[in-house]
Amino acid sequence: CAFYSSVLSGVQERTLVALKPDGVQRRLVGDVIKRFEQRGFKLVGMKLLQASEVILAEHYHDLRRKPFYSSLIRYMASGPVVVMVWEGHNVVRSSRLMVGDTDSAQAKPGTVRGDFSVHISRNVIHASDSVEVAEREIGLWFHVSELVSWDNADQSNLYQV
Ligand code: GDP
Ligand code: MG
Repeated sequence: CAFYSSVLSGVQERTLVALKPDGVQRRLVGDVIKRFEQRGFKLVGMKLLQASEVILAEHYHDLRRKPFYSSLIRYMASGPVVVMVWEGHNVVRSSRLMVGDTDSAQAKPGTVRGDFSVHISRNVIHASDSVEVAEREIGLWFHVSELVSWDNADQSNLYQV
């Protein structure tokens, strides 16, 4: 069927996940990668960088009128971030569930925020919140040449083929 053949050809949903500066400082990069790998998602892009205020302003454009906006930009520019693109069935929704509630105090145990953070202002991780936003964010943070299409050898363990 069309769905499974698209799974096999690798044309699946993609999302942007980023370790924020507090996540990098606290050495949580490996833990987060491990969670996404274990779940069965495929890493198709990754880099560590110091984000510029220009890219952060674009990334958080929708929040520009919020009272916390300038402190958010300062936080996100305070050190390196690790940005990643993960691919897989329903990865946008699943990664939001894995990341947990925006407000760390509300985030459930077992989520990244629920396991590693106590306050909304230092919530460790970002994940795109819709397929459309994911496409925009991936385009903002990555050049197409930085994204790699590759086949997992064990697709039949993850998907009915
Ligand atoms: P997300 O998609 O779960 O990251 O949440 P939003 O898109 O609503 O907000 C983006 C980011 O802004 C959050 O992850 C927080 O880092 C920050 N943020 C959101 N709301 C607040 C707030 O009320 N206070 C502070 N200090 N930061 C906030
Ligand atoms: Mg958001």
